[in-house]
Parts: sequence; structure tokens; C-alpha cells
Amino acid sequence: MPLTAASSAREILTGLHDVMAARGNAQSKLDKVVDLIAEAMASEVCSIYLLRDNKLELFATHGLRKEAVHVTRLAMGEGLVGTIAEEGRILNLDEAASHAQFVYRPETGEERYHSFAGVPIVRLENPIGVLAVQHAEPRRYEDVEIEALQTVAMVLSEMIAAARLTDGSRRGTRRDAGPLRISGLKLVAGMAKGVAVFHEPRVVVEHTVAEDTEAERARVYAAFRRMREQIDTMTREAEFGTVGEHQEILETYRMFAYDEGWSRRINEAIDSGLTAEAAIERVQQRTRARMREIDDPLLAERMHDLEDLSNRLLRIVSGRMGTAAQTGLARDTVLIARNLGPAELLEYDRRRLKGVLLEEGSLTAHMTIVARAMGVPVVGRLSDVRHSVNEGELVLVDGDNGSAIIRPNRPLATGFDHRMAMSNKRRAEYAVSRSLPAVTTDGVAISVMVNAGLAEDAASLELTGADGIGLFRTEFQFLVSATLPGRERQQRLYSKVLESAGDRPVVFRTVDIGGDKALPYLSDARDKAENPAMGWRALRLSLDRSTLMRAQARALIEASAGGVLRVMFPMISEPWEYEQARKLFEEQVEWARHAKRKLPARVEFGAMLEVPALAEMLDQLLPRIDFLSIGTNDLTQFLFAADRADPRLAERYDWLSPAILRFLKRVIVAARAADVPVRLCGEMGGRPLEAMALIGLGADGLSITPAAVGPVKAMIRSLDAAAVRARLAQLLDKPPRDMRKTLSDWARRHRVAIG
Ligand code: PEP
Ligand code: MG
Repeated sequence: MPLTAASSAREILTGLHDVMAARGNAQSKLDKVVDLIAEAMASEVCSIYLLRDNKLELFATHGLRKEAVHVTRLAMGEGLVGTIAEEGRILNLDEAASHAQFVYRPETGEERYHSFAGVPIVRLENPIGVLAVQHAEPRRYEDVEIEALQTVAMVLSEMIAAARLTDGSRRGTRRDAGPLRISGLKLVAGMAKGVAVFHEPRVVVEHTVAEDTEAERARVYAAFRRMREQIDTMTREAEFGTVGEHQEILETYRMFAYDEGWSRRINEAIDSGLTAEAAIERVQQRTRARMREIDDPLLAERMHDLEDLSNRLLRIVSGRMGTAAQTGLARDTVLIARNLGPAELLEYDRRRLKGVLLEEGSLTAHMTIVARAMGVPVVGRLSDVRHSVNEGELVLVDGDNGSAIIRPNRPLATGFDHRMAMSNKRRAEYAVSRSLPAVTTDGVAISVMVNAGLAEDAASLELTGADGIGLFRTEFQFLVSATLPGRERQQRLYSKVLESAGDRPVVFRTVDIGGDKALPYLSDARDKAENPAMGWRALRLSLDRSTLMRAQARALIEASAGGVLRVMFPMISEPWEYEQARKLFEEQVEWARHAKRKLPARVEFGAMLEVPALAEMLDQLLPRIDFLSIGTNDLTQFLFAADRADPRLAERYDWLSPAILRFLKRVIVAARAADVPVRLCGEMGGRPLEAMALIGLGADGLSITPAAVGPVKAMIRSLDAAAVRARLAQLLDKPPRDMRKTLSDWARRHRVAIG
């Protein structure tokens, strides 16, 4: 029997290497392989089963009857071999016949053998065959022998794939060849079609047997070092959200990245004769197999993290770094990722990026807001989507229903095309209502503006049918720049936006950086915040970095020369912060006056209400502002103490909860009493039912995502404002158990077009 896993595997690997390099057809090579393994492992039987026509066919054997070769065939899940392939697990039995799944195949003559061990042969996480050994003596195989078998199976998979011996197109796992429908959370509406592209491309291990073990070891060491550096940098950047990964995931990454056990196992696999890539993959396969035996959802989550990291290590070691954005998109694409940051998304070519499927994601994360602005449908919370689809396969994204179809067959694709045409038609109908005035049936005019952040958004303002831009997120320019945009660059953008908007008002929001919007060139390793959304962000950062704010003020003032400058400040927590920001702007106006620059005809100052504490200070604030804009994305995360970017909380609290509606009502009533226009600019206002409730609370206007203008206007034009106000007042007095349902029933009864 072999001494150690490494030495026995290496001995077989050296032999395999020679067999693979020699001339001859695939069958004769497989015949040699089984002899070689049987001999090296002193095993009486060694057999290779490969998946062909969706059956596991005995392709080569040492020890079983030769007549059984290409005759014995087992379905996936049938017998011991079928079980190993289907479940992707190892079986190690001292008495094969006593296993529940055992089936007897007389043509093989295997009745003499008692012990049995088999491991799956895997390619790209899909089983393509089984490698099995058998013995007459009833005993379990040692761990080292199983390890050696697994290593050999890995090398065999390379040889089998190269010889195209199996039907790679029909696989028996979740990443099946058949169509797959998956459902998640609708993040951005719309329908799209494209081929799957992984944001972080997967690496296919091509060479498994090492030429020079020491060189492979050095490559893995270097890759580990590089990966650790990357994780450390990502952890720092995550506080500002340039990368899509969540803080908690990064902590787990760090834990694994520095885990000695993991690097030791990879090292041992290299000792057994594998290349660096194959060793990483081999350890990953072993971990996957172990995980299948432990049924623990928490551990499974962690496993995803280790998978990610293992893929990252593979990409580093094989020199295939960089995201798909860097490689460029060749065709209409549906991007597949665990999560994305807003800056990562903006790197993609807008013309080719048709849709996004995420394992995580939440409605108000900035990545979602950016995708909405780009008009790219997104479905989130699709657990395991990265393991359900192969690169290059066709994917249909139904952002309207929060689902996707992978590898559609003809009827599914036709059905989808039909729905897509309907959806486009509905959109075209909305396009008609887009240009109609937003006036309720009882004559209340609601201002419907859009949220924007890029020059292109402003250029398409005309098409949206909106009354103006109610929120221009100036930080987007900062997010898409590699370096801090200076005053002149900012001014050019603002002038362009104002020019495109023409007579329509534009409300500029001063930069809201920090939170989930990071700027690598502004971040500071010392600024480590436990909770960035509540940290040093937005106005807090701007007031402390007054040079930055002064430059922005100057750019806005000069761009608005001769017109009206409307500016508002994000994340005001106390009135003094507003006062200080306003003073800074007023000083810049004075400076421009002195410098004999052309001035804006008027400056209107607004406050964003996003921090609940400010609601308690409205009596102080309202007399000092020209308008109030409620940012419900942040406000609701603070009211419910629920991180807006945390996918686990994405559906937990409802915007239509009485707590939120009561809070908003109080603010709206106070603003109206002080004669201060009050608008809402969070994502909430872009949903017809929510917008109906907001009008019911007395909001004067909404600033919403451009695609929502049509549906929201259609809702407004079918709504009796007085009736919804009266109904909502009753409902807030005595809240029903399910406010959403009660409101939507009411809307349907009153024929309000809530979609
Ligand atoms: C908000 O918080 O509601 C808002 C509009 O600002 P942002 O989403 O950019 O934080
Ligand atoms: Mg906000």
C-alpha cells in the first residue's frame, strides 16, 4: 500500500503524464491509465466510467470483465457509480453490496470484490465520470488512498476533456444543459436578453501535471501574497463602496486569505505533482465534497466566500486578473456577479450591457440606482446564480417580475419575446402619458422631476417628459473619474446639464461621497469606519474638506451665471450644518461679485431630509430654506436601523409601513404649514403605489428615476388626490395589518393605474 498521499499520487501522476504525452488514441490511453492506477495502488480493480448520452458508461477497466466495457451503463443516480456522479461525493465502502444504492451488474463479474471506493471526475464543477477501485478483501480504503484517487481524477478530467470523450453539453448537475428559471428580487424593471458574462471571469484549469514542483510552489506563494494585499486594499475601499463587496464578506475573505490550513493543503497538493492551478482547484474540490456531507446553511454561506477567494487565487496565479469590463463586451451581455459597486458597473459599455443578475443586491444600494439610471434591468437575490449558468449561455432577464431564464428552449424564448414586446408596448403607452401633465382627476398638479447624475441623463431629459431634475447627484462625476475632478471639469458638466435642461429647473446636490460611494483617491486608510453609511460622509465630509466644497460651489455658481442656481445639501443632521454650508456658498457668491464675475440671478437653497433627527428641528430649519427634499433611501434605513445595502434586509421593511408614512406625514405637514415646497427624491417615489401614498400625504412633487415617469404620471392622472388623502388619514389613524395590500385594494377599487 502507498505510504503517503503525495508520494502515491506523484508516482501515478508521473506515469499519467507519460501516457498523456505518448501517441495513441484515447481508448488505448484510458486502458493504460487503469492498469497504471491499479498497479500503483495495488488494487485488484480500477475502472473509469464516463458520462455519455447522459449515462455513465464503463470506458476502461483493470480487473472487471473486458466484455463489460462500453456495455455496462448506469443512469445518473443509479448504483454506486451513479450516486457518486450525481451527488459529486466520494464513496468508500468495505462491503459494496450492503450499500442501499448498490445494483448488481452480472456482466462485470464484480461479485468477487467486496470493498469499493469511487471518486467523481469533475470538469468545471460538473461531474463527467467516476474513477473507482475495488478489492476482494473487505476493508475501507485509507484516507491517503482516497486523496490520491482524487488527485488522479483531476488529471484525468484534463485528459478526458482534451479527448472530448464525454458529452460536455449534457451534464447532470444544477448547471444543467436544460433551461432553468430562477426567481429573485426585482431591483430594476425592464426586460433584456444577452449572453452570460461573469463580472469576474472563471478560470479553466488546463494543465494539471507540474513540470517543476518548486516553480509551482513559488507561483502559489506569490499569488497568496498578492491576494492578501488585494483583500486588504478592498477592505479599505469598501468603506467608500467602490467595490461591490460587503464589509462582512471581506472580513471572511480576510480570514480565509490568511488561513494557514488552506495554504498548507494547496502546498500538499503541489507536492503530489500538480500545477499551482490544479492544486488550488483540487483543494477546492475536496472542500466542496466535504461540504456536501455537512448540511449547515451557515457553513454553506462561508463556502461561497471560500469559493470566491479560491477563484480569485486562481485568476491571480494564471494571470487572468481584471473584470469583464476590462476585457470589453463583445455581444449583448447579461452580467453575472455576486455583487457590484456603482463604480464597477459604470465601467461597462452601456451599449452592450443589457441586464445584470446578482446573488446579492438591494433596492436602494447605489449600484441599483446607477443601473436604473442606465436603464439596465437588474434582478438580485438569485442565490447561487454563478453556479447555475455557464459563460456564453443565453440568458433572459425579466426585471419586471424579478426572474430570469437561463438556457431557454424555443417555447420559453418565444414566450419571453412576446412578454418583452408587451412590456415595450406598455412602455410606449407610458411614453404617451409621459408628455401629458401630471394633474390628478380633482385638479391637483404634482411636479414630476427626475433623478440624474451623468451628463447623458440630462441630455435625455426631454424624452423623459419630466418637469426638471429634482436631484442631480454630483458625486457620480467623482465616482467615474480616476482622479478628483477639479473646478473647471465640474463647471463644464454643470453648464452642460443646465444647457440641456433649458427652462426646466435642475436641483444640484452637493457631493455625497462616503457610505457606499467610495472614492479611491480620497479614501484614507485611517478612516476605517465600522458603519460607513452613518460615518464621515456627504455634508459631514464636505464641511471638513471645505476646499473641495468651495471648488464645487464656485463651479455651480459660475455655471448658473445669469440663471437660477438651485442647490441642496445631503445628510444634514443638525441645522447648523445647513447654515455652515449655505454660508460657504454665500461667501463664494460674494467672492464672484468682487471678482466681477457674472452671477446667478438667484440662488435657492434646499435641505435634504435624510437623517431623522432633522425632523425634530424643522421649526428652526424651515424658515431658512427655499425647499425641502426628502431622501427616503437614507431616511428609511435610519428610521428602521436597517442598512440599505444589506441584501438580507432588502425585503424586510416596507416603504408603506405606517411608521414611515406617519413620519413622512409629519414632515410634509410641517413644511406645507411653513409654505416651503416639499418634494421626495428617494427611490420610493418611483413606484406608482408608493407615489400614490406620498400624494395622499400631501407631497408637492416627486423626483424619480426616468423610467418611472410614465407609470407614475399615468397613476397621477387617474387619481383623486382628495380621496386618497382622506383614506390615508383614516388608515394612519388605525393602521391595518397590511398597509400595502389595503392601499393596493383601494387603488384597484378606485381604478387608480398602479400598474
Ligand atoms: C436618498 O437617500 O433618498 C437619496 C435620494 O440620496 P442617495 O440615494 O443618493 O443617498
Ligand atoms: Mg441619501
